Amino acid sequence: MSDLPKTDAEWREKLSFEQYHVLRQGGTERAFTGKYWDEHRKGTYRCAGCGQPLFSSDTKYESGTGWPSFYQPLEGAKIEEHEDRSYGMVRTEVKCGNCGGHLGHVFPDGPDPTGLRYCMNSAALDLELAEEESPD
Ligand code: FE
Repeated sequence: MSDLPKTDAEWREKLSFEQYHVLRQGGTERAFTGKYWDEHRKGTYRCAGCGQPLFSSDTKYESGTGWPSFYQPLEGAKIEEHEDRSYGMVRTEVKCGNCGGHLGHVFPDGPDPTGLRYCMNSAALDLELAEEESPD
């Protein structure tokens, strides 16, 4: 992870338009348009900016929101959470603690066992399929 882009221009080059918009500009993809909201295969969701493992498919659940939702991050994942008062709402923004990329928000209306809903953007994630899901 030492080869992270250092400048905005490098980030633009590394990421797709949609990834850049979400990760580096704090954008939000439209609901039900991302590649992972209806994804059910097993694997590890990594940060699309730096590759850090962030979420397991084991903690993904059907939130009905149109965005991939998880009830907790992977143990040891470096994640930053802070208050976001944009758009007249008080929300908790979730960022990758490794590359600083915007991932989404976390809300206190998730399922057991945490009661949390990590509402992520598909564009901020890269699913690494588990072995059992790989075509052979
Ligand atoms: Fe990252």
